[in-house]
Amino acid sequence: MNIHEYQAKELFKKYNVPTPRGHIAFTPDEAVKAAQELGGSVWVVKAQIHAGGRGLGGGVKLARSTSEVRELASQILGMQLVTHQTGPEGKLVQKVYIEEGADIKKEYYLGMLLDRASEMPIMMASTEGGMAIEDVAHDSPEKIIKVAIDPLTGFQSFHGRKLAFGLGLPVEEINTFIKFASALYRVYMDHDAEMIEINPLIKTGDGKFLALDAKMGFDNNALYRQSQVNEMRDLSEEEPTEIEAGKFGLSYIKLDGDVGCMVNGAGLAMGTMDTINYEGGKPANFLDVGGGANAETVAKGFEIILKDPNVKAIFVNIFGGIVRCDRVANGILEATKLTKVDVPVIVRLDGTNAIEAAEILNNAGISNIIAATDLADGARKAVAAAKGA
Ligand code: ADP
Ligand code: MG
Repeated sequence: MNIHEYQAKELFKKYNVPTPRGHIAFTPDEAVKAAQELGGSVWVVKAQIHAGGRGLGGGVKLARSTSEVRELASQILGMQLVTHQTGPEGKLVQKVYIEEGADIKKEYYLGMLLDRASEMPIMMASTEGGMAIEDVAHDSPEKIIKVAIDPLTGFQSFHGRKLAFGLGLPVEEINTFIKFASALYRVYMDHDAEMIEINPLIKTGDGKFLALDAKMGFDNNALYRQSQVNEMRDLSEEEPTEIEAGKFGLSYIKLDGDVGCMVNGAGLAMGTMDTINYEGGKPANFLDVGGGANAETVAKGFEIILKDPNVKAIFVNIFGGIVRCDRVANGILEATKLTKVDVPVIVRLDGTNAIEAAEILNNAGISNIIAATDLADGARKAVAAAKGA
C-alpha cells in the first residue's frame, strides 16, 4: 500500500525528519488560504497522486503570488496527470499540496527499502538527486551508495558516515545528515514500511537538509498493526478490482497481458505465469484463490478476471491438496451460471479427486471449457486460445 507525499511528510514531521511546511487543498480557495497561512512569497503547488514524475508531467509548479497559486491550483486540480508511472491514461488529481518554496542549493537522493539479497533494510544515497533513480542505477550504478542496516542493532552513526562520505559532504554537515538519516530509519521501521524515497533530498542555502519529496510504501501484511497508516489509505488511488478481490480473500494483481489466470497458491501462480510467458503468451493477472477455494470464490475469481477487457482466455490451474478438485470443478460450473464466461477456459485440475473433477466437467458439456493434462499443456492451450487459434 502506498500513501501520498503530504501524508508521508506528516509522518516525517512526527519523527523530526525536516520537510518544508505545507497544507493540503481540495479547491483553489483552500489553496489560496493555505498559501496565506504559510506566508512568504514563493509557493509550490503539487499534485497529490500515487505516482512519481509529477514535475515533468506538469503536476508541480512554482507560484510567486497568491493569485498565481489560485491559477495553478485550478489548472492542476481535476487534471488527468500523466507521468512515466501512471500509464498513458494518467491519474485524476483530486488534491494539491501547497508548500513553501525551498531554496535549493543541491539535490540528492535518499531512499530505503527491503533488500532481499542481504535480507535487511538498506539505505541508499546518491548525488544524482532529482533524476529517476532507476536510470542512475542502470547507467552509473557506482553513483548509488548503499548500506545494509541490521534491525537488531538499528541505525548506527557509521552507517550515516558511510553514506555522507559517499555523497562527499563536507565535515561540518556530516552530523546533520546522520541525524536526518537516523530519524528516517525510525520512520521506516516503526511503520512497517517497504519503501521510502526522498527524491530530491535537498541542501538549502543555509546548510539544512530537507525532504523535498516523499514517497512511502508499506507491507500490506503488517497493516493490521498499523492503524495510523491504514487510515491514510486512499482507495481512489488503487485498482478497483484488486480492492474487490481483497474483500473475498483473493490475492489479485492486474497485469497487462491477455491470458487470465486462476490458480491456488502464490508459488503455483508464479509458476503458471512463468509457463505462460515461456509458451509465448502474457498473463493478464496474478490470482491466488487460496487454499480454501470453493464454488463461490472460484465464481468471484471469474467475475474479477473477466472485468479486464483484455482477457481473451482463462487458464485455471488448480492443484487439489487441501481443496478437492471436484469442488473446484463444481465451482467452475457454478461460475459459468453466475457470470457470463464468453472466453475459452482451459482447465488443469490435478491432485485429490482429479478424476471425478474431469468427469464433472466432461458431463457438463460446456463447449468453451477445454481440458488440459498438465501445466505445460494447459499453458500452451491457453496461449493458443488467447491468440484466437
Ligand atoms: P516528482 O518527483 O513527482 O516530480 P517532486 O516533489 O520531486 O515531484 O518535485 C519535482 C521538482 O520540483 C523537484 O525536483 C524540485 O526541483 C521542485 N520542487 C518540489 N517541491 C519544491 C519546493 N517545496 N520548493 C522548491 N522546489 C520544489
Ligand atoms: Mg521527486
